[in-house]
Amino acid sequence: MKTIGILGGMSYESTVHYYERINRQVNEICGGLTSCKMFIYNVDFSEIRELMLEGEWDKIGNILSDISKKLESVGCDYIVIATNTIHKVASVIESSVKIPLIHIADCVAEKCHEKNATNVLLLGTKYTMTEDFLKSRLEKNDLSVVVPDEQKDIEEIDRIIFHELCKGEIKDSSKKYYIDVINKIKNKYSIDGVILGCTEIEMLIKQSDLDIPIFDTTQAHIDSIVEYALERK
Ligand code: GLU
Repeated sequence: MKTIGILGGMSYESTVHYYERINRQVNEICGGLTSCKMFIYNVDFSEIRELMLEGEWDKIGNILSDISKKLESVGCDYIVIATNTIHKVASVIESSVKIPLIHIADCVAEKCHEKNATNVLLLGTKYTMTEDFLKSRLEKNDLSVVVPDEQKDIEEIDRIIFHELCKGEIKDSSKKYYIDVINKIKNKYSIDGVILGCTEIEMLIKQSDLDIPIFDTTQAHIDSIVEYALERK
């Protein structure tokens, strides 16, 4: 079995799902008392969030590169960034270590193709929806990507992530907001799937809420990590 190194705590509400499900899925496959070899470096997210708001992405890249080197030095075989948004500095992190990064966009793109979804709506933080770092990686994986086209929707989707979901708050009003945005985009563009491109959105939106396939980045990432850990990928 390979050892997974996870950059976590962004937020801990979703990192806990990585820890729990990676172990559970490995155990379901291998049986007995098997669990997954992994290190989780849990950052203080308030420090990272402050740097985000100041636009100090170089500093975020440096902090996470230093942590990745630590994870490499204790024997991790792979690096995982347990958040979509921080993939903005994925290339900096990748170039700071010799071990490979399991990129969240590649994992979710694979799931889209398995269900023949090629024209997808991407939801996530403001950074993920308005910048190119995740979108372009999805496009490289032969997906067409649309994002919400109204500024107020982008702001509200982002606000719900940082002010509610990252604190473990699940509100019916926020769920309704997400569903309304998804249905609005669905009626406007011919999308055949929705990527939950933020590792906390799965806490709010479930497949049963929608009549269009959802592709959850958290679960897609976890499924791939398990394959890499068990050397099946
Ligand atoms: N976990 C979220 C994501 O997947 C948002 C928090 C963050 O900025 O890392 O994008």
